[in-house]
Amino acid sequence: MSEQLILEINNLTKHFKAGGKQTVHALDGVSFTLKKGETLGLVGESGCGKTTCARTIIRMYEPTSGQIIMDGTDITELNQKQLKPFRKNMQMIFQDPYASLNARMTVRDIIAEPLLAHGVVKRKQDANEYVYPMLERVGLTREHASRYAHEFSGGQRQRVGIARALILEPNLVVCDEPISALDVSIQAQVINLLKDFQEEKGVSYLFIAHDLSMIRYVSDNVGVMYLGQLAEIGETDEIYKNPLHPYTKGLLGSIPIANPALARQKKKSSIEGDIPSPIKPPAGCRFHTRCPYMKEICCEETPKLKDAGNGHMVACHLCD
Ligand code: SF4
Repeated sequence: MSEQLILEINNLTKHFKAGGKQTVHALDGVSFTLKKGETLGLVGESGCGKTTCARTIIRMYEPTSGQIIMDGTDITELNQKQLKPFRKNMQMIFQDPYASLNARMTVRDIIAEPLLAHGVVKRKQDANEYVYPMLERVGLTREHASRYAHEFSGGQRQRVGIARALILEPNLVVCDEPISALDVSIQAQVINLLKDFQEEKGVSYLFIAHDLSMIRYVSDNVGVMYLGQLAEIGETDEIYKNPLHPYTKGLLGSIPIANPALARQKKKSSIEGDIPSPIKPPAGCRFHTRCPYMKEICCEETPKLKDAGNGHMVACHLCD
């Protein structure tokens, strides 16, 4: 597998203005890389900043600070016109296949839209030579092309969303909870479709999900996020077999298992309490309000992400 980097994120930060003088610290100093043809999974509870991270990377949100390097080019400060050639290479698959497709457009027009926008074809009718094979590739038929999104099931709609994202053969696809709105029976089909595309085209995925088992299945590397920061990142097997951060241990401890005796043991390592507000994140280690191993330094000093060996990075004073 090529070692070429498709994405390099340095200290990426995104703050939103809230009411009054308040600031939402949605993303604070996140750094990671993604190689060509690989998948990086981002996990964490709701509100941990994973969706903000994804949307900032593809410049749906303007970064507050930090750097986004896409395929060797710094795209952090490009304006919308300068970004256009890069948009062709970075696409997104959204969580909700019901809301993300235009109800007034036919499936043909939805899939053809990126081809027209990026000048791959000049006229709508010329798009069919791309749209029909893509429909078949995602498990639909050319007869589906003239129908509207509301005529499809959730799984079929997500296939249309995937076809739209992949029609331009992008280098990077951000998958924001792409299967969480789908029936369990459909989830595996959609995941396998994405994996097949990756093998064929070498596309890289930034895959966001809260389902830890699914993240393990799809990802080469996993980043664990907590309150806008990376707590831990490394190769998938390493993170799942040898988690070092108490938050990661807690998340993995909360995966339901069928054996009651093992389940009782695991419960002891699950996480208590709620994630604090990103408007006023705790000082020091942001996890200290919920961490069973918290010590004095944790309330005062923010732990830096450090290499614990084999590229396994962790931000915790216990590992200093
Ligand atoms: Fe827990 Fe301290 Fe490590 Fe944070 S730095 S995870 S509070 S032990």
